Amino acid sequence: MQVDFLIVGQGLAGTLLARALRQQGQQVLVVDNGRKSAASRVAAGLMTPLTGQRFTLTPEYPELFRFAQKDLGELKVFSPIKVYRMFVDAEQRARGLKRAECVSCAPFIEKITEDVGQISAEWSDVHGGALMHGAWVDLPKLMDDGAEQLTAAQSLRLAEFNYTDLQVKADGVSWHDVTARGIIFCDGYRSAASGPFSYLPWQPVKGEAISFNSNAPDASVVLNRQGWALPMGQGRWRAGTNWEWTGLDEIPTQVQSEKFQKRFKDYFKSEVSVEVTDHVAGVRPCTSDNHPFIGTHPEHAVLHLFNGMGPRGTIWAPTLAQEMADYLVDGKPLRSTCDLRRFPVAG
Ligand SMILES: Cc1cc2nc3c(=O)[nH]c(=O)nc-3n(C[C@H](O)[C@H](O)[C@H](O)COP(=O)(O)OP(=O)(O)OC[C@H]3O[C@@H](n4cnc5c(N)ncnc54)[C@H](O)[C@@H]3O)c2cc1C
Repeated sequence: MQVDFLIVGQGLAGTLLARALRQQGQQVLVVDNGRKSAASRVAAGLMTPLTGQRFTLTPEYPELFRFAQKDLGELKVFSPIKVYRMFVDAEQRARGLKRAECVSCAPFIEKITEDVGQISAEWSDVHGGALMHGAWVDLPKLMDDGAEQLTAAQSLRLAEFNYTDLQVKADGVSWHDVTARGIIFCDGYRSAASGPFSYLPWQPVKGEAISFNSNAPDASVVLNRQGWALPMGQGRWRAGTNWEWTGLDEIPTQVQSEKFQKRFKDYFKSEVSVEVTDHVAGVRPCTSDNHPFIGTHPEHAVLHLFNGMGPRGTIWAPTLAQEMADYLVDGKPLRSTCDLRRFPVAG
């Protein structure tokens, strides 16, 4: 079988890149091992504009959001949703009030509250909060629809990819019966552990999430305070998450489930029930400078990487898939902040 590009992994990154390349007339074969604990299967799929302890908007966010809204909207997996970030203390509230004045933040902030109960009498927002314009991406649908289209085009293979089975030549690669002019690794945090791009400064981080039923008042808003709770309708919710830099397995832990349940209950003034129906764990492909790793191996022109989407893959992946396809097909330059060549090969 002869294709233009062999792609390893059909998570968020592999799905969008395969689509962008096919739109440019390229033949691809995507190999995926179907792991249920892939980061894209575990993720909430949220786009939250202002994040972190410092409650900041990253400079790229507005541009990336606009593209994602259009691109993922076409795929019918993008839904605008409000996110209510409850401030943890007066200091965070002061920062929130300041952000409302910043020109680039303003379009993403609907309202800053300074006291409890200004949006809902049900929530325990003692220090007020920021009601933001975010979005939710239906990642399972994105990947399932992508798999269906790739299968129909005979461009998806359910298999484990082993780097030792790959033959790398100057003008292309071969893997079992497949030959291609290049291979693109979209295998998430697996690229950090082994393979030609493991030399990059990865910082993979484990995270968990629970799904549950609750009698909490149904909200149409994501509740956020040191974590998030996403209303799924009809009393169903998802909540997470945590950040673990060591012990990078994909195994959910009871201790985190209990933390998420308590955090959720604390969002409300009155007592609410939680009945856990599912609990998952995955590893985010994070990087040392919080920017993705995309581009070509400095020593092998046929080995490419489209990875390192970190904790905010939904924001980065749509724009970068387009830019990576333009780079691979037309030789257009990559944005320098994401081009993996910003880091030298180790050794
Ligand atoms: C708990 C949690 C919550 C998150 N919440 C959000 C959120 O709200 N918003 C957001 O934007 N991001 C979130 N993220 C981050 C997001 O999940 C990632 O940015 C994104 O999913 C990365 O996608 P990916 O395709 O690069 O990697 P992955 O989703 O890991 O996909 C890699 C694919 O490659 C396959 N694969 C790997 N190795 C092989 C192999 N050897 N052979 C064959 N197949 C292979 C895997 O099975 C998988 O299908 C969250 C992550 C976690 C863990």
